[in-house]
Amino acid sequence: MKERVVLVTGASRGIGSAIAKDAALKGYHVVGTATTESGAAKINNDLELFKGDCAGMVLDINNHENIEAVLADIKNKYSQGVDILINNAAITGDDLLLKMKRDKWDDVIATNLTAAYSITKAVMRPMLKSKWGRIINISSVVAVSGNPGQTNYCAAKAGLLGFTKSLAQELGSSTRNITVNAVAPGFIETDMTDELTDIQREHIFAKIPMARMGSAHEVASAVSFLASEESSYITGQTLHVNGGLLMV
Ligand code: NAP
Repeated sequence: MKERVVLVTGASRGIGSAIAKDAALKGYHVVGTATTESGAAKINNDLELFKGDCAGMVLDINNHENIEAVLADIKNKYSQGVDILINNAAITGDDLLLKMKRDKWDDVIATNLTAAYSITKAVMRPMLKSKWGRIINISSVVAVSGNPGQTNYCAAKAGLLGFTKSLAQELGSSTRNITVNAVAPGFIETDMTDELTDIQREHIFAKIPMARMGSAHEVASAVSFLASEESSYITGQTLHVNGGLLMV
């Protein structure tokens, strides 16, 4: 089988790091990105331990020239384009809408939704040419449930689900072999959820049938399946990884 190149945005920590390590372990060529040189060096170090020919690169997903430069570096390094794109990088900027400043809204929509448009558009052409591709967008349980204090984040994550379904319909064809899916994690132990207090955790656990938070590895397993040959007839779907918190 042709060696696949995987691009994971936001692979310096949390879920992105677990996805990148899992892909490297499976022997893919993996490029993981971080916003800083030190983050990229950490990814390099993390992935060195695994099998694939992997690299950490610096990328601000809000910077179009940066995206083009990373894709050019990938083309130089592997002599091919990205086969599997994981749109994972994201931020939060929580506030009640009544108090939310415009820049908080704009930053979250730009990083969590508009950047997926930019990167996906930039990797699509080589996928169409090679007649194979996987695009996996990391959304969230709150895209479906909503969450007070997160109108910006929920709007972006729900937008990603609409983006996923629409692009899956645009790219669906028996000859292209390109699928577009989303993974919607519930509460996962990462820096993003580190700030939860014990009381908040207790409230959350009470609502989760599995009565615990998930691990980044458990999300990576779902991504790994959607990235594989085994998922070839699944497109436009959202795979929920939430311990039963929300059953849709
Ligand atoms: P995290 O620990 O906060 O890591 C975020 C990653 O995104 C970091 O690698 C960060 O890079 C990168 N990033 C942030 N802004 C960026 C930018 N402008 N350009 C490029 N990269 C940027 O997040 P996480 O908890 O692992 O979440 C990963 C994904 O899962 C996100 O899409 C998140 O919305 C989703 N999710 C998480 C949970 C959860 O419970 N954790 C639940 C549902 C959905 P630096 O290290 O360089 O800053």
